[in-house]
Amino acid sequence: MPRSVATKAKPKPKHAQKMRNAGRGKGYDSPARLQKIFRALDRLFPQAECALHHTNPFQLLVATILSAQCTDERVNKVTPSLFQKYPTPADFATVRPEVLAEDIKSTGFFRNKAKSITGAAAKIVSDFKGEVPRTMEELLPLPGVARKTANVVLGTAFGIATGIVVDTHVFRIAHRLKLSRQKTPEKIEQDLMKIVPKDRWISFSHQVIWFGRKICQARKPLCPACPLETICDSPDKTV
Ligand code: SF4
Repeated sequence: MPRSVATKAKPKPKHAQKMRNAGRGKGYDSPARLQKIFRALDRLFPQAECALHHTNPFQLLVATILSAQCTDERVNKVTPSLFQKYPTPADFATVRPEVLAEDIKSTGFFRNKAKSITGAAAKIVSDFKGEVPRTMEELLPLPGVARKTANVVLGTAFGIATGIVVDTHVFRIAHRLKLSRQKTPEKIEQDLMKIVPKDRWISFSHQVIWFGRKICQARKPLCPACPLETICDSPDKTV
């Protein structure tokens, strides 16, 4: 006797069914759910901007390289004197990495960061006449620059939407809101680029980063204060 005829599936409890289906597959990226997320972010952070202090694209590039595994607050403490000491890309290109490393020690991973910054500066001086290039293809070969850094520079310094910044906050929140199940920033970015309208890529990046800093924090998310609580079924929820 065919199995499908012999057994009748026992109905699942309504609550369990609802939780499994809540936003899964089509639901998680349904237009209505995405609009709710966009509206909440717009309300929470209408003017979200990059927190790294800078006065030109090159300074933003340096600050973004320094921000890896480091807080923006810490970077902002280091950069004022750093940019005073090395005002131009040529200054960063000519300093020895071990000397620069001493100046940026408090940001962590300072030897690698010093090599990246001096290497990127040297290439910007030799290949781009001292100007930060404005395309992903030209930025990615620079030492220390991956898509995250390139997206920050292109979006914030030039207003060019080439992708979505996936830092530690965006990575975590994309998972918590089930907008992506991917395990690498590059793949998460590709998922987000499919569901976030391009004219939101720059603002969405800033807004989600601020959302991660202020509400959906890594260790203890402030779920009672979160406007997305009703559409979130993350196991990390605190309510
Ligand atoms: S409900 Fe909690 S875990 Fe979910 S998005 Fe909001 S803060 Fe993050």
